[in-house]
Amino acid sequence: MIVREAKLLNGSKAQYKALDEAIRTAQFIRNKAVRLWRDESKVDKARLSLLCKELAREFPFAKKLNSMARQASSERAWNSISSFYRRCREGAKQKGYPQFKKHSRSVEYKTSGWKLSEDCLAINFTDGFKAGKFSVFCDRETREDLFRLKINRVRVIRRADGYYAQFCFDATRKEIGNYTGNAIGIDLGLKYFYKDQNDNATTYPKYLRRAEKRIKKLQRRLSRKFVKGKKPQSNNYQKARIRLGKAHLKVQRQRKDWAVKLARCVVASNDVVVYEDLKIQNLVKNHHLAKSISDASWYQFTQWLDYFGKVWDKTVIAVAPNYTSQDCFNCGHRVKKSLSTRTHQCPQCKIEICRDTNAALNILKKGMNVLGIEWNHSTQGHWETAGEPGTLEETTTPAVDRQLETVSGVDESRITL
Ligand SMILES: [Zn+2]
Repeated sequence: MIVREAKLLNGSKAQYKALDEAIRTAQFIRNKAVRLWRDESKVDKARLSLLCKELAREFPFAKKLNSMARQASSERAWNSISSFYRRCREGAKQKGYPQFKKHSRSVEYKTSGWKLSEDCLAINFTDGFKAGKFSVFCDRETREDLFRLKINRVRVIRRADGYYAQFCFDATRKEIGNYTGNAIGIDLGLKYFYKDQNDNATTYPKYLRRAEKRIKKLQRRLSRKFVKGKKPQSNNYQKARIRLGKAHLKVQRQRKDWAVKLARCVVASNDVVVYEDLKIQNLVKNHHLAKSISDASWYQFTQWLDYFGKVWDKTVIAVAPNYTSQDCFNCGHRVKKSLSTRTHQCPQCKIEICRDTNAALNILKKGMNVLGIEWNHSTQGHWETAGEPGTLEETTTPAVDRQLETVSGVDESRITL
């Protein structure tokens, strides 16, 4: 599935209000579905879609929403219920009991209730809310996809700076990648955003930290304007709220942009990418680390690694992080160290390197084990020279290529240990 986004422009105030009402109705139906599931026993997906019909009969405003959009909102409720069941089956610690939504921001239409103009420059929402015609503002690629591909779903989203439509296309992105014969092991860390086995480090950009400071400031201004128990809050409060929302949106976009570009770069220049599957939720519980970890947005980065791996048919592997920073990459001796110890010193083989590089080497080794390739640590330099023609063809490429075929042939390119 490909998702593209466009902004909905040139609508009147009343039109945007109609979109708001559609969003609110979708939330209403979702909450009613969760309510039904909580109150009655043996509620399944079919029962929830029946509920949509009942609600449409009972409430005139629910009838206004396109029937397929009504179904989509009940499906959303079912999604949260079924993933709750799944987590229970798996015995997860956090079960995520389905909750009611209070500030829903989106409504999902399927194939009806909207009409795209022939030149794809405008979209018309035709269901009972009569939101009408909006200009579709997007980049060139999105416009091409709108012309070319079949649209499965249209999701209308309200953001701090306006209304957007997400188009979901029934296609997968496949491209021919640039195959280099390189492999990389990535250690995600605090001091560096990541470090690979050849000691190349990337740091988390400063501008993102600066933007986060600005958010803090705006948040303080907002809470100063808050009056307890007052409804509605003052106009100045609303303005400050919108300003804060926009600042959040900006940081979110910058962070995503950075993560996508970095992941793209990493996957483009390597055939095999191995990273550690961090349980980020666990880490964030440690409050000393919390700020720098959650803002370092590792999770987003690893998600994009997986994505580009699929697009270019490359091998992206997540391995368990157990002892990757403690074991010696050279002899396997376990060297206990605290977070503040920056170097890895092995008493057994007397080797001394940066702790992150040691971890990256271990991670790469683990990943190679998954692929069934014997990877020799003493070739640390060997991988560096792997970029040179000659040595590359003889030693690494055939094995890696063969493995690539089998792995991508059997399953998706992601293997979790
Ligand atoms: Zn050692």
